[in-house]
Amino acid sequence: MKNSFRIFTRLGGVRYYAAFGSKDLKIDGVKDVIAVASGKGGVGKSTTAVNLAVALASKCQLKVGLLDADVYGPSVPMMMKIDQKPEVTKDMKMVPIENYGVKCMSMGFLVPSSSPVVWRGPMVMSALRKMSREVDWGNLDILVIDMPPGTGDAQLTTTQTLQLSGALIVSTPQDVALIDARKGITMFSKVQVPILGLVENMSCFICPHCSEPSFIFGKGGTHRTAAEMGLKVIGEIPIEMDIRKGSDDGVPVVISAPDSTVSRAYGEVAVNVVNRLQELAKEQEHPESNSTRFS
Ligand code: ADP
Repeated sequence: MKNSFRIFTRLGGVRYYAAFGSKDLKIDGVKDVIAVASGKGGVGKSTTAVNLAVALASKCQLKVGLLDADVYGPSVPMMMKIDQKPEVTKDMKMVPIENYGVKCMSMGFLVPSSSPVVWRGPMVMSALRKMSREVDWGNLDILVIDMPPGTGDAQLTTTQTLQLSGALIVSTPQDVALIDARKGITMFSKVQVPILGLVENMSCFICPHCSEPSFIFGKGGTHRTAAEMGLKVIGEIPIEMDIRKGSDDGVPVVISAPDSTVSRAYGEVAVNVVNRLQELAKEQEHPESNSTRFS
């Protein structure tokens, strides 16, 4: 295998290798792989990825997988209330663990939550390959990847190891988050991954007493950034106690309060993602009308 080397290691009792430089990017049986990313940590990327995955399954009736690629700080075990280890098939593939209609895989299933993952880049890269490719996903319409924050090794590996149909960028409306969101957008453009849109998380706080909105992280910043970069904001999620509580309790708000305003907002994001993927698929069939693919 040209330009490649192999790392042998052990992960959850499964011996595996990662072949760097592989060009075989598609995962068998998986139609679309999308990344949920943010330049900055703490803006609600994992919360968005989890609620989006659940909304795609419950509201759009799709077959959905969720891969927690945040190797250093996996959130999916807690947010999806999963505390068992995956089983391994005869052909040495890990079986994803399903909850709320979504098949999940996370580093957090393999390593105790109290043990930090202290790995250098190549170990992280091989773990990500293992968790995406050597998993018995079955047939999926969409595999949602909760990316690690930032634009480093792990992000690049993910974008180069998997054939991503597109990336969703999550940001708060705050300048310091938007600066990093721009970096994320630029990284995806460089590796030719189309941006599906921006999600403005924590867009405002609506007072439960007087219903007055407070724009804690500023107003209009995400829309301005999107417009400047030729992109669209495809969802706005307010700060809401039920969202935070749902993440901490392991019951995403889309499940615990499916008819709430915020659940409807996640549902809209899901529908917009599906529509954008259909648009991109059409553009691929007719490349002459390909005006938005790498915007
Ligand atoms: P990231 O993945 O970007 O690091 P998380 O999704 O882990 O961020 O979210 C960080 C914290 O903010 C979590 O405690 C989560 O429950 C909370 N949070 C995220 N989005 C919202 C929201 N819209 N409303 C209330 N709390 C939120």
